[in-house]
Parts: sequence; C-alpha cells; structure tokens
Amino acid sequence: MPRLIADRPVLHTTSELGRIMAAARQREQAGERIIHLERGEPDFDTPPHIVEALAKAARDGYTHYPEASGERSLREALVEKLARENKIQSHVDDIVVTAGGTHALYLAIQCLLSAGDELLLLSPHWMALPKLVGFAAGARYRTLPVYMELLAGTWSPAEFGDRLRAALKPETRGIYLNSPNNPSGAVLSREYLEALAKVAIERDLWVLADEAYEHILFDGAKHVSLASLPGMAERTVSIYTMSKSYAMTGWRVGYAVCPPGMRSAMAPLLAFYTTHGVFPAAQIAARAAVTGPQAAVEQMRAAYEERRALLLGSLAGSKFVHGPTPKGAFYVFADVKAARGERDLWALAEEWLGFGVAVLPGTAFGPEHADSVRLSLATRAEDVAEGGRRIAANAVAPGTVRAAEPRTEQKTTA
Ligand code: PMP
Repeated sequence: MPRLIADRPVLHTTSELGRIMAAARQREQAGERIIHLERGEPDFDTPPHIVEALAKAARDGYTHYPEASGERSLREALVEKLARENKIQSHVDDIVVTAGGTHALYLAIQCLLSAGDELLLLSPHWMALPKLVGFAAGARYRTLPVYMELLAGTWSPAEFGDRLRAALKPETRGIYLNSPNNPSGAVLSREYLEALAKVAIERDLWVLADEAYEHILFDGAKHVSLASLPGMAERTVSIYTMSKSYAMTGWRVGYAVCPPGMRSAMAPLLAFYTTHGVFPAAQIAARAAVTGPQAAVEQMRAAYEERRALLLGSLAGSKFVHGPTPKGAFYVFADVKAARGERDLWALAEEWLGFGVAVLPGTAFGPEHADSVRLSLATRAEDVAEGGRRIAANAVAPGTVRAAEPRTEQKTTA
C-alpha cells in the first residue's frame, strides 16, 4: 500500500471538538437527549436582506471567476467600514477577501512564518491555531496564558507588557491576539493593547489581530482594533469574518487587512492558488451585509447577552463549577477544577455527557487549561438554561454525594 498521509505531524493530529461531537452523536443515536454547549456556531439564520442580495447577484451574473483579492466594490465598502468602525486607514489593495476568517489566518500564517520562526499564541487561543501553524513548514508556536488574568483584571497594562516581554525568544516573530477572545470572553481595552503595541514595536514583531467577534460585546465593552494604534498598521494583519456578526458561517466570507509589504504574496500567490478567490455573488451579499441595516447584528448580540445571564444564573448555584463573566464573544470558559478533582479532563467531559451536556475541554485552547471547559452561548436560550441547570445539579467533585435534584437514571459521579 502506498503511504496516503504524508509524514508531517499536522496531518496526524485530531480535533478535540470532533471527538466530543462524535461521543455526543453516539449517545444521541442511542436515544439520549444531549444539550450541545460544545459548538461555536450562531444558531441564527442569515438576515433575509443578505440572502436576497446573494440571489440577485447570482441572477445578475456574479458567477464568474473572482479576482483573487476580492470584488473591488466589496473591498471599497470594507475600506469605509474599517475607517468608520475600526479606525483603521487601509487601501483597497491591502484587503484580501478570503473563504472565512480561517482561510485569512491560514494565508497570513503562510505569508509571515519561515522555517524556524515562532508564533506566540496568547491563550486560551482558538483551537485552529496550532494546526494553522502546523501547515507552515518548519514554523512553531508557543502559548502564553494571559486572557483569564486580563478578564479577571489581575494585571495592570504594564504588568501585561512585562509578561509579554519575558515570554519572547529570539525566534519569536509574531503574536496572535484575539480580542474579544474565544473562549474566555476577555476584551482588551485600549490601555492593554497599547502595552502590547509597545512590546511589538520595541522587539520588531508583527501581530495577527483576530477580530472575528468585533461586534459581540457585553456590558458596554468597546472593541478597539490594534491596527488603529500609532505605529501598528505596518506590523499588524487584522482578520475579520462575516461568520459571527451576520450569522454567515456557511457562506465562507472573511477578509484580512495587511500591511502593503504583503501585497505581492497574499492575493496573487496565496489566495489565488488556494481557493482562486471567493464566490462573487457571496461577496456582493457580504457587501450588502456591511453596508445595509445593522439591526440584526444588535439583536443577535443582545440575545447572546441574555443567554449569558441565563447560563451564569444557573451556574451560580454550583459549588463545583465557576463561570467567569465574559465581556465579549459567545462563550463562558468555566473553571471546573473542583469538579475534575484528580481526573483527566476528558473523564469529566464524558461524565457530563452522561447527564446530557456536551462541552469542549479547555485543553483544546492550550495545554494550560486543563481546569476549564468551554460552554457556548450560540445555542437556543432554553438549551443554555437547561444545560446550566444540569451542570449545577449534577457536576460535583468525584466521590461527592449529590444533594440537588440529580437525574437518577444515569450514573453521574466517578
Ligand atoms: N477566529 C476565531 C477566534 C474564531 O472563533 C473563528 C470561528 N470559530 C474564526 C476565527 C473563523 O471563523 P470563520 O472561518 O467561520 O470565519
């Protein structure tokens, strides 16, 4: 037999999300009801005016090969959006429309990292990052846990800067920043971004600023784009997506805003030879999303905020699970140290499936997060509330005798 999967480590990795979803599916096939708090996909449908714009654009003939960098009219609309909302001054030639934020990150990483280079991933980080770095031959990553401390307000901006400085190695070329952060819900204020910018300038680093959740903010938190800070546009690649703000996960439209020095590689080489661009009609619809009414964005944001209250309200009754309050994105990164005890985190995830709740183990977001699980707010309010209630009632430390309304038909303690 020929070897069908090459000897490259990234091709032999597995996905934690895939594993928990498969385990949940198995139980569902056996007739159990599982509440899905593991997935990070908006449950809302794409607003109708965007769907209509797609249909019209397809009828109008936006069906031919796209420009590799994206439809000019969309990029022009994005230049305006970036100036208005993100305070980023950009040029159409520096925007590359991609097959979602994932593809934008893939292209940026391919463009920026040489063999032997290191990307510092601030963690907990979105779980795709290690694999995306793995696809860049010879590049490496290291994690630096920061977001839980930033969410808790433990460090001053200067202390944050010091942590960053201390973590850098000679081979570190760049930093992956994600605010609002998936999964912690931390949102970095201007002062913390300034501290990061100072280190990046001092050490001549570039930054990948993943702003996928720019519109999903709670308690009046404000999103500040790193590339809007003095001296940062020339060393920052900003990543955006239609997926979260407009519930357009299946459309695969996102974009990267790059420093001019990346022009010769990002669109003509990387975008062209990976996807050859994005379906033009979908890009025209994305333009309608960006330039049209924004009421649906606010409605969805408000719904996530309501669900956050429901979930945290249910968890407040638990002695064993603590949910820090997220300021953005749509997850709660819950502390399960007491419920886990000495067990492997996967044993806890399996046990929770036993009382009908699927969650994503924190180790998917960096090796330091074995005491956390991610609970998603991107599912129906009733399910978020019921999931929280089941956790509060059933998730206990190993060996604890439960008092509060346990589900008796299943064994829930180790
Ligand atoms: N960045 C972050 C932090 C994410 O959570 C996601 C999606 N879960 C993405 C980027 C990419 O999403 P998409 O490819 O759908 O645009």
